[in-house]
Amino acid sequence: MTTKTMHIGLDDTDSPRQGCTTYVAALLVEKLQRLGAEFIDYPNLVRLNPNVPWKTRGNGALCLRIKHNESDEDEIKETVIGTVEEQADFEYEGTDPGIVFFEGTRIPKEVKTFSKNAVTGIVNLDNALKLLKRFKAEAVGFKKCRGIIGAFAAVGETLQGDYTFEVLAYRVPENYGLKRRVVESSIVEMDKATAPYTFNNVDQEKERVLITPRGPDPILLGIRGETPEIVKKAFEMVKPLEPVERWVIFRTNQGTDAHLKRVEQLSQIKPYNPVITKGIVVENPKIIPRRHVVFSIKDESAQVDCAAYEPTGVLRKVARKLIVGDHVEVYGGVRAPSQSYPLTINLEKIRLLRVSPKIVYQNPVCPKCGKRLKSMGRNKGFRCEKCGSRYPGLGRIEVKVEREIGKGLYMTSSRSQRHLTKPFRRYGLEKSHATPKGLIEDWYHVSRNAR
Ligand SMILES: [Zn+2]
Repeated sequence: MTTKTMHIGLDDTDSPRQGCTTYVAALLVEKLQRLGAEFIDYPNLVRLNPNVPWKTRGNGALCLRIKHNESDEDEIKETVIGTVEEQADFEYEGTDPGIVFFEGTRIPKEVKTFSKNAVTGIVNLDNALKLLKRFKAEAVGFKKCRGIIGAFAAVGETLQGDYTFEVLAYRVPENYGLKRRVVESSIVEMDKATAPYTFNNVDQEKERVLITPRGPDPILLGIRGETPEIVKKAFEMVKPLEPVERWVIFRTNQGTDAHLKRVEQLSQIKPYNPVITKGIVVENPKIIPRRHVVFSIKDESAQVDCAAYEPTGVLRKVARKLIVGDHVEVYGGVRAPSQSYPLTINLEKIRLLRVSPKIVYQNPVCPKCGKRLKSMGRNKGFRCEKCGSRYPGLGRIEVKVEREIGKGLYMTSSRSQRHLTKPFRRYGLEKSHATPKGLIEDWYHVSRNAR
């Protein structure tokens, strides 16, 4: 009996009106284990570049990594394909499901590079198909087959750098589309009890719960954190008021800033690439229609606009207070130029590196009576309204005004953070070691009624 290793990538089975590819993965966790497969990692939930123009949702792809008996291979593949066919929203125009089967214990570095590019930039189906052929991987695509790109990218993203976990709990189908019912106070308490090892549970600013999504998808709630143990413990503390069909712990690149790539010069910034870059503010912030704040930064190579959007709360407030001369590091996705706007960085974070002094010019006070003087016209000096003295030789004086913002890191409020954005809570908790050895005992659960 020969044991083989297989990596199964899945992407783009859902649509804004139904489904979720993580749910397809959750169903497969149960089905493949029944077929005797052994999971060598938690299912991987890999968030890809959120700035690709044709993707509006979370842009998450999945990979299941298993060991199996060679004789079970065909049945495993049939089960995967069958489950996707059963679950995918084929009627929806932009849904183009893809599956990739990749055999072998080692993922080649070319495939890893492809995946990094899918997270930080743009890759296309051609790139994917060439590599698939070269490494003799198998791909199944439906409709326009675009899902193959993400499915393959998920296979190659082995999450060797920083990573996090998320437990996702699913609803029973009867409740799809209905309001999610979870005791809110239990979420707030869970957040307090598990901080800082879980994140993005609650938006502190608006006191809003973030773990329950809003759409018609099958997810009841998702809790993100540093270890499988902590997300499981957190999940046990939360009190749902509706049945949970199943739950699964995923390992993921969420909350790691994996999408952001440092660009040394502003002239190298390309549309759709999420970047970290530096510059000096050269145009004071202005508020453009729909209340976005836009300012401009410059280095020796180019000048680029940066925009903070209304829903981003905190970040927008900070952006408004920047002035010419401030040194900033900016983090965000790059929007292509349009007819009305130049190439623009849509901000996720700003690090204020150097605060420029803010100077205002004032009229001097009367040396005799202390009253603030009146100007007699440009370069004509001043006169005192109180005692009548004239001072033709005096000029305006510089006054340093205290700035309302200081050096430091500022980011979008939790409620508008991207899946990939590293929140404040995770700073200092980054992982640099390789994949954890082995899985915890109960990393998924299927309710008896669902079987
Ligand atoms: Zn006077």
